[in-house]
Amino acid sequence: MELKTLQPLFDLEAMSKATNGNGQAVVSNGLVGQDILSVSQFDPGKLAYIFSRAREMREMVRQVGGTHILNGHVVACLFYEPSTRTSSSFIAAMERLGGSVIPITQGVNFSSVSKGETLPDTIRTLEQYSDVIVLRHPELGSAQVAADYASVPIINAGDGPGEHPTQALLDLFTIQDELGQIDGLKIAMVGDLRHGRTVHSLTKLLQHYDVSLRFVSPEILRMPLTIMNEILDAGMNVRETHDVADVIENADVLYVTRVQKERFADLSQYEDVKNHYEITPELMAKAKEKMIVLHPLPRVGEIHYAVDSDPRAAYFRQVQNGMYIRMALLAAVLGKA
Ligand code: ASP
Repeated sequence: MELKTLQPLFDLEAMSKATNGNGQAVVSNGLVGQDILSVSQFDPGKLAYIFSRAREMREMVRQVGGTHILNGHVVACLFYEPSTRTSSSFIAAMERLGGSVIPITQGVNFSSVSKGETLPDTIRTLEQYSDVIVLRHPELGSAQVAADYASVPIINAGDGPGEHPTQALLDLFTIQDELGQIDGLKIAMVGDLRHGRTVHSLTKLLQHYDVSLRFVSPEILRMPLTIMNEILDAGMNVRETHDVADVIENADVLYVTRVQKERFADLSQYEDVKNHYEITPELMAKAKEKMIVLHPLPRVGEIHYAVDSDPRAAYFRQVQNGMYIRMALLAAVLGKA
């Protein structure tokens, strides 16, 4: 009897290059089986792919709530730092796609981490049960360390003051969705630009677009020099100021951030700058009619609650977009085109 060569049942790379059942080629998104560690992995083609999938996910959720494309897949959510939105949106994303979650999000303290287990050992354990690991960790570079040890994809959900790539994807998606464009916009980032990983990732991602950047921060919280040099080398139009009043009238996007108390070695420095900015209805009265206010949240006083009813306050719509972006990303990484 002639022996047949057996094909692997699930070859993710092949699936991304496969046909869609109608004989049409499914274009590889280049994300299948990949770690998502930094926004520098995303070029305009990949961004367009993720954004169009996120729109499809939104439509699908609005019409039927969920689907089963990730049936049989498991994601481990391993969070060494607090999280509300990132952890719950990854969980909701996985569940709406029919997959399951190992949620170590409420307290790594109740896992063996509290017994002194190292990150590599925890990762090498979780990969035995899961197909992808979403990691948040207080140390810069920790996602890369995890990726070096893991044989399943690692998604960086924030590595200390480093990056938060999935947040930047949802931020950019929200800007495009709300304002209909990215090119040509004036984008002001306000607050803790030194420690804020969301503004680090968003700034890097915006290098693909023709935007003007305005950085507003107290002196000690300015954007790190490495990122400043990177965007200046890329020829971006960027200016820094300490005062929101300098940017409010012209901004199309006001991206507000909290001062990151947990990153200060000297808490008296935090006390000096913690209440530096507050976006109020009076300030909003000076802003354009067509502009948006974004915030990665949580807010701790930077945006007055009275601003919430302003239609330009887009931060809760931004939260919802996080789920669609993470659905698109999980499906892409797991090869479900
Ligand atoms: N939630 C965002 C983050 O994890 C922003 C923040 O914490 O200020 O980076």
